[in-house]
Amino acid sequence: MRITFCQGILAVAITINLLILYYISRLQQRVLHRHREHMPPSTHQQLGPLKPGVTILIREFQDFENYVPDVVRSFVKQKPELPAVVVADRLPYPPMGLPSMPSVQVVILKPAPDQPAHTSRPETYVRTAYVALVPDGVKADPTSQLERMLEEFKASQGKVEMVAAPVRSLMPLQCLNLKVSLKRWTAEYTPAAPSSKLCTALKGEAVLLLRTKDLFNLSVPLAKPLMTSLFIQTSLRGWTVRILDISFSAVHQPLLTSSHNQWKADNLAKASRLQLFRDFGIKRVLLEDGKEQWFGCSKETQRCFGTIHDDTPEYLYQNRWTPPCCLKALRETAKYVINILEMSGVRYWLEGGTLLGAARHQDIIPWDYDVDLGIYLEDIPNCELLRSAESGSIVDERGFVWEKAIEGDFYRVQYSEHNHLHVDLWPFYPKNGFMTKDTWMDHRQDVEFPEHFLKPLVPIQFAGFLALAPNNYRSFLELKFGEGVIENPEYPNPALKRMEKGNGM
Ligand code: ZN
Repeated sequence: MRITFCQGILAVAITINLLILYYISRLQQRVLHRHREHMPPSTHQQLGPLKPGVTILIREFQDFENYVPDVVRSFVKQKPELPAVVVADRLPYPPMGLPSMPSVQVVILKPAPDQPAHTSRPETYVRTAYVALVPDGVKADPTSQLERMLEEFKASQGKVEMVAAPVRSLMPLQCLNLKVSLKRWTAEYTPAAPSSKLCTALKGEAVLLLRTKDLFNLSVPLAKPLMTSLFIQTSLRGWTVRILDISFSAVHQPLLTSSHNQWKADNLAKASRLQLFRDFGIKRVLLEDGKEQWFGCSKETQRCFGTIHDDTPEYLYQNRWTPPCCLKALRETAKYVINILEMSGVRYWLEGGTLLGAARHQDIIPWDYDVDLGIYLEDIPNCELLRSAESGSIVDERGFVWEKAIEGDFYRVQYSEHNHLHVDLWPFYPKNGFMTKDTWMDHRQDVEFPEHFLKPLVPIQFAGFLALAPNNYRSFLELKFGEGVIENPEYPNPALKRMEKGNGM
């Protein structure tokens, strides 16, 4: 067959086009490939299975004075290939001068906007099955303590989740028992038996060894202060730590060389402890020496929870009860107000949920958010503070705020101007043998009742003192709330939030 000149041109043009296309696509692939080489590997490419062995991880040190390079060197001398990961919130400055080896890495927890998320996650860098958390200033001897720790850990497999080797220092390592109740916003430390090696928390310096996957399955594996944060989380999971007979020495004691640096470090530690308890929602800490620390609201702060909707405070949705600081402030306000009412001759009685709490366990119900008192309307003029509250809110000499409520004809005493925890005073008056009032709330318990319940009023244990209650308060409560109310606790609005079953009070 014959090919025309035009057909020939066309065939050549198509061939050239195909060649160009092929060339461009090859070029693009190569560019893409090269581009990928310059990006950090993606998570699934890098993270293979964990290798046997231990990585040392150093989390807590000061920028302004630390011995991290010496710590790393002493461990690397023990075992040249030992992986070491230094974890910092931000790039340490001045630079630390770490040994430049591929097995020594620094992780900055603060994510950088041009880097993938996994580059700021320490689990990306710890690729061994075990990890040892090493405090600053620790010196590894040539006796391979890490290997011995690992052997001991493997020997106690299944019995403990962590082993600890004390750092020989001025303060001996203390073995503690820690009980954390998130429901009650509380952490309680008690000393373990003197010879005990099994603990749920430690106080003092130690090298701690655990499984890498255990560490990174915690909620916040490396929050500071490291030991405090770690043991709060591990005790909530029922883990224990065994103190070993292996120990480490320290570069020198105390670690920081000037009292100014020590002061700086102490302040930073205090601030991170405060932040940790805030983040974890722990407001009361009972220390091993019996001292109590509060991290919740006070007269100078707002109360711990916001405005209440449908009788159900926000903490109930978090499966928590009233913060202990708020219960304490409510008890204090109740005791104070009741004392003033008694002194000025105003007849009062514990009302509603407050009476229920007194009948059930001589205290405020652990999830209640205010205190209710009934008073005789005709006695109000006897109390100067209540009289004055008629014409606007007043702050008394102890900082409590007395006011007439805007919601209706009742009075409210607030813990302070900032903290609106309060006691409500509900004025009732007798009418045809019944006690009644003019403002009613949309509550089942807010009903008229026979006056004979108040004749006489009877003393009842409440919140650490004796208060007055209606006589036959069981029938009084059952009239208001229904039968069996004392024995069957329920949240204020069960339609929205029911109490969990098997909930120990
Ligand atoms: Zn509070």
